[in-house]
Amino acid sequence: MRLLRPFDPWRNPWCTCPPKYTLNPYTGCGHGCKYCYISSYIRDAFNPRPKDKIIRYLARDLREAVRPNIVAISYSSDPYTPPEDRLRMMPAILKLFRDYGWKVLIATKSNLVTRDIDLLVDMDCVVSITLTTLDGWLASLIEPGAPKPSDRLDAIYRLAQDGVPVSVRLDPIIPSLNDDLEEIRELVSEAISMGARHIVSSVYKAKPDSMRRLIDTLGRELDGLLSLYSQGFNWYGYRYPPSSYRYRVLKMVKSVVEKVDANVGFTTCREGFKDIDDPGTYCDAQHLLGLSYF
Ligand code: SF4
Repeated sequence: MRLLRPFDPWRNPWCTCPPKYTLNPYTGCGHGCKYCYISSYIRDAFNPRPKDKIIRYLARDLREAVRPNIVAISYSSDPYTPPEDRLRMMPAILKLFRDYGWKVLIATKSNLVTRDIDLLVDMDCVVSITLTTLDGWLASLIEPGAPKPSDRLDAIYRLAQDGVPVSVRLDPIIPSLNDDLEEIRELVSEAISMGARHIVSSVYKAKPDSMRRLIDTLGRELDGLLSLYSQGFNWYGYRYPPSSYRYRVLKMVKSVVEKVDANVGFTTCREGFKDIDDPGTYCDAQHLLGLSYF
């Protein structure tokens, strides 16, 4: 069994990231985000289980790799999901990638990533922190197992201060929930003032089970969501809202980013709007590799 696998965007032609590898240290994720799509293909998705003998198998995969590459950790679970504070798998994983000369892209919602800052400053890596809202109450409803937005802002600051490049994922934007211009302006301003050098954004793509969880959680707050998505279209089982909505809201985020700091890049993720993306940027933020602040 290979743990280190080529990244497979499921043939989505709107995925514009260059080829890379992925590693998921856990099966499932304890952050339990209501909008999460992993429950459509992972059994018992919000009960994270560490991968068996991961360090041994990863060392074998790295030994056998033809040359060092780029790895994303991870896209089907948060690598800093709750048991990671006890299990401490990530330090051993990061040491292996460092020793074999790989570049690492970390995607997380957890400030636990700062525990490993001594390793991160010693390797070529980018950390993407997801921040969907600054409203702690809303975050506790839609991302019940994840750290508070204020803790994620602290993590951005600490990483940036220590020279680790940080991207912020405003993802997903859920129509009528977190698509308000003023709230987006505040979130982007905070993220950039904490040290984020890139913003990536994307609109919620619905799966039947995630849509049900959102509506069960938020009820009338989401009036109109069903009718908006019923006007959209399906892509490999994901329901997209209409292009007109997606284009308008993502243009709005880009213009906010430009006004806050024109030197901060902006990219969309699997949206098909290349004209919105800043040239030379990627949604996985790998253009920031090799860039440290100091
Ligand atoms: S942190 Fe990511 S993988 Fe984990 S539940 Fe939330 S959206 Fe899913």
